[in-house]
Amino acid sequence: MQAAETLLRETARDLFVGGVWRPASGGATFGVENPATGEAIAQVADATEADAKAAMDACVAAQPAWAATAPRRRSEILTEAWRRMLAAEDDLAMLMTLEMGKSLEESRGEVRYAAEFFRWFAEEAVRISGRFELAPDGSARLLTLRQPVGPCVLVTPWNFPLAMGARKIGPAIAAGCTMTVKPAQQTPLSMLALAGILEASGLPAGVLNVLPCARAAEIVAVCLDHPGARKVSFTGSTVVGRTLARHAGERLLRMSMELGGDNPFLVFADADLEAAVDGAMLAKMRNIGEACTAANRFFVASSVATEFSERLARRMAAQTVGPGLSGAQVGPLIDERARSRVAELVRAAIDGGARVLTGGAAPEGPGYFFTPTVLVDVPASAEILHTEIFGPVATIQTFETEAEAVSMSNATPVGLAAYVYTRDLARALRVTEALEVGMVGLNRGVVSNPAAPFGGIKASGLGREGGREGIDEYLSVKFAAIAV
Ligand code: NAD
Repeated sequence: MQAAETLLRETARDLFVGGVWRPASGGATFGVENPATGEAIAQVADATEADAKAAMDACVAAQPAWAATAPRRRSEILTEAWRRMLAAEDDLAMLMTLEMGKSLEESRGEVRYAAEFFRWFAEEAVRISGRFELAPDGSARLLTLRQPVGPCVLVTPWNFPLAMGARKIGPAIAAGCTMTVKPAQQTPLSMLALAGILEASGLPAGVLNVLPCARAAEIVAVCLDHPGARKVSFTGSTVVGRTLARHAGERLLRMSMELGGDNPFLVFADADLEAAVDGAMLAKMRNIGEACTAANRFFVASSVATEFSERLARRMAAQTVGPGLSGAQVGPLIDERARSRVAELVRAAIDGGARVLTGGAAPEGPGYFFTPTVLVDVPASAEILHTEIFGPVATIQTFETEAEAVSMSNATPVGLAAYVYTRDLARALRVTEALEVGMVGLNRGVVSNPAAPFGGIKASGLGREGGREGIDEYLSVKFAAIAV
């Protein structure tokens, strides 16, 4: 644990505003805890309203010069940051595991995934194109430009402390926008470390400002109300997203919303069951089930349901549960509130008649662990079938026909991701088209990829992150009509 202590001692805990690391005005701090032990690991500067105004002032001041910076230069800064992140993989991963709980191996994977957004957007920064056309009636020439939106407010969740930031910061830097980032209260250390890397990579002062804080609603509101703010990009729960969308709507800010999911995982009778179980483990257990893309409802053809459920239960039961630094596969949930919520959902389902194939309760001892759980015969009215579980719990329901599987999948107000296992190509394409989601994993348990447009439909949000679409969220279109 010596390495962890040294790392924590050397980790930034101040605000980063206008290129300066400093305490919060007034000097307040808040505590960050290790969810594997429940112990405090750091005190971090707690930004105030005055700090929020200062951060947005810094964005506004830095915006013109940053927009005028050559795309190649912006690209080089991102490439340098990508390199530095990979070089610092071990430290960044340990920091993330300490404040968030996931296994070291998963944290390492996230560092690489987050860094890849910088590489991807370094490549996009130099490909921001416009158009030059003759109007159809020949009366004018039309010049279409794409310019940076301007100062952005970026609000990120705790479940992927680096990646959810990198996929906003990367395109904002590439497009020439300045930004204020408000990381989740539970996991500010990873974002502060990332800011340090970007600073060392040559990012000019004021382009990126970071405001850890304990009072998210108040601090984000000041940022959105700042007259210089032009855009908000939020990743988090649908309920908070709605509040911010209302606020952004009032101010008529551009907005991107990456919100919650209720993702179905469909296994048809013709599926390769072994591959489906492998995919289910990834889709369910990645990030301890605390992923917006986590499989939330398993729908399995009734003829293979028993076999699939038993195989999945065996794999879930074999997972090792323990602190992320210990080498265990399944770390703790983020806090006591998250664990009690999962425990209550499971308890209510069991009380209502659900059968437990494995798990079912929280283990003894410190930390916010929950045992990997598989439930079948869950009553239709149980809340666990109608909410984002955000934990290592799989519920399995059965279906008879393809139409039924699609209709059960779509019976939810949100539409982020879906997973489909079948060997029938025509069915795979038919179901992909019919599912009301933004992303589909076809015979694959992971959809995320920096080169692909990530995002949802329905109440899962607005806009896309990553892919060729990702940079558009940070660009405004302008056109000039030019006399012939
Ligand atoms: P959350 O909505 O509670 O918090 C997200 C961020 O918003 C945090 O920084 C938090 O401090 C801040 N926040 C909270 N209340 C706020 C308010 N009133 N005003 C302004 N900011 C506020 O979400 P969470 O618990 O951190 O994350 C889990 C949720 O995020 C899940 O629903 C998950 O599905 C979703 N998520 C979505 C994606 C995606 O890309 N679609 C990715 C990861 C997580």
